[in-house]
Amino acid sequence: MDYRPKVGGDSFIRSVRRFLNGLGRRCTCRLCGRHFFRFSKFRGGWAAFSPYLHEVKWTGSDFDRFWCPFCRCHDRERHLALFFDHLGLWPTFAKAAILHIAPERGLSEMIADQCPANYVKGDLVPSREGICKIDVMQIPYADEAFDWILCNHVLEHVPDDRKALAELFRVLKPGGRAVLQTPYAEHLALTRENDSEIDSDEKRIAFYGQEDHVRLYGRDLFRRIRDAGFELTLKTHRECLSGKDPQRYGVNAAEPLFLCAKPLARGAAG
Ligand SMILES: [Zn+2]
Repeated sequence: MDYRPKVGGDSFIRSVRRFLNGLGRRCTCRLCGRHFFRFSKFRGGWAAFSPYLHEVKWTGSDFDRFWCPFCRCHDRERHLALFFDHLGLWPTFAKAAILHIAPERGLSEMIADQCPANYVKGDLVPSREGICKIDVMQIPYADEAFDWILCNHVLEHVPDDRKALAELFRVLKPGGRAVLQTPYAEHLALTRENDSEIDSDEKRIAFYGQEDHVRLYGRDLFRRIRDAGFELTLKTHRECLSGKDPQRYGVNAAEPLFLCAKPLARGAAG
């Protein structure tokens, strides 16, 4: 889902604010390279979210440092770019077949710059040109079609996420890799979903974090990804990006990279 504000809708006041913001040097956007005083908050920032989400330690986007005021990329695009820098992943996109679900605009431009052999961008509701309509629960591609899959902050929207994970696994080549970022609650052991009492936008925002989320993952999320067949490695900000101040780069240091791989020979020893 693309919550990016309309670029053409800038008011004069907003333009002046952005100009003044751009006089700062405290923050740096990894995607556009601009420096400025501060990133923009999402919906009033983290303090405006429900006490319940604070209590269960919701981990996902950085609501306090969400939009870049210049290129309007999300915090999660910036974080992935920093992880890809550290892990040396950019060259692996060259000549690769890539499936990018709900493609983030800035990140997808950077991936396209690597000249993949086949770069498929898909979304259930395509929001711009060049994006195909793809239901992640029924991916219209053959088995083992892709070397790379990027599917970030999608599963929490999907009615049957196990089916989606099975589909993502099916279309990934053995030895292929996937990035499956998904918000979850660190203090929740089991995923909260199918709760008949959470039956309005207001309650979904309070308990799931957003009106179009259908669940709040607990720590069993990791097991759910592994049960689909993926080898999941959680790469932490501290482990990979200790030299990157999360406040300067506008990223949530608590959110790990969900780096997944499809085993070469599933279930075979060695
Ligand atoms: Zn930017």
